[in-house]
Amino acid sequence: MAIPRSRPIPEKDLLSVKGLTISQLIAATNKYWTGKTSRFDSAYDCTIKKLTRPSNAQGHLIVFSLIESATEVGKVYKTWFNFLKAKSPSERVHVMAQCECYDYLFRMEYANAAHSAARLFYSNGEPPDSSNPSLHPGLCKHLICLKRELFDR
Ligand SMILES: [Zn+2]
Repeated sequence: MAIPRSRPIPEKDLLSVKGLTISQLIAATNKYWTGKTSRFDSAYDCTIKKLTRPSNAQGHLIVFSLIESATEVGKVYKTWFNFLKAKSPSERVHVMAQCECYDYLFRMEYANAAHSAARLFYSNGEPPDSSNPSLHPGLCKHLICLKRELFDR
């Protein structure tokens, strides 16, 4: 399960270096990303096919998963959280949130990176000028599914 190389966003688009917790990302998803198809509802259609419990790389805990959704059977997405400077997964520590689905990479990856809560792994590195011009942070259904697996069971 190779994770691709990542890059930071250009300095000019960095909105905050503070970072975000999972609690803050969930709150932002509630605030900005509940349209007619709620990602919170869609997350119930997701199944975790593989889950790697925290592994430690460069002092950061990583929970890595492969997730399939009922709407795209046979397609699994790499979805993971890096818990920064943490000894165990927590909703209250700063994270890097990553998913390779289109929802995340077209709308949220760049915005979360602007809030220091992601790096650019899968998106083309361009700001989401039409899909998320205000750079609102948020989580896709896969990341919500992983969050539930870790904290809501
Ligand atoms: Zn996703």
